[in-house]
Amino acid sequence: MISENLQNIVSKLPDNITLVAVSKFHPAEAVLEAYNAGQRIFGESRVQEITSKAPLLPEDTEWHFIGHLQTNKVAQLLRIGNLKLIHSIDSDRLLQVVDKEAVKAGITVDVLLEIHVADEETKSGFSVAEIEQWMSDRKFETLKATHIRGVMGMATNTDDIARIRADFHSIRECYNRIIGKIAPDLRRFDIVSMGMSHDYPVAIEEGATMIRVGTNIFGERTY
Ligand SMILES: *Cc1c(COP(=O)(O)O)cnc(C)c1O
Repeated sequence: MISENLQNIVSKLPDNITLVAVSKFHPAEAVLEAYNAGQRIFGESRVQEITSKAPLLPEDTEWHFIGHLQTNKVAQLLRIGNLKLIHSIDSDRLLQVVDKEAVKAGITVDVLLEIHVADEETKSGFSVAEIEQWMSDRKFETLKATHIRGVMGMATNTDDIARIRADFHSIRECYNRIIGKIAPDLRRFDIVSMGMSHDYPVAIEEGATMIRVGTNIFGERTY
């Protein structure tokens, strides 16, 4: 089932789109099934879960962290072998902690800045204006062990496709202004992570380079 779901999605994806298989709340056996079907990149949203799951998978499994990250869990997260990307940097304070802990651990870490565009109070992240200001101020130059690889965002949770499209469009436009004008010298700033099970085709149309799909691969999560 998992391998068929995966095959279905992958066979229709344009070549330039990276698929993150979101395995949160699914057991290591399910992740292994997807791994055996060829998937290598997995997304998790809780530090405790990723810490216990990662050792159960082959070494070349690549882990992405996509959930809200508490500063007191950063050191633990960075100890995971093959942590490739943190999507969910939602404050300057968190970024500073990640950078400090990465220096301490003697590693470098790739991250995305989370943009908040959705029409919901609860979603975290920087506003478009905050990110653009942060980039204009060239705050990224002070980072010692952290590389900003791009942006991540979510659309409003709604059935209104026009609204979803508008949200993804805002995220991509923000990215375009950064690479086009605000900080064109930023190197390897090449990831736009947006789109989940119900809305990733729209995200791709609006310029996603990376999508995060859970339910359509692993089935419903049991909370
Ligand atoms: C859970 C989650 C996803 C995957 O959601 P599905 O609807 O299961 O595809 C993607 N991104 C983030 C940030 C998530 O927390």
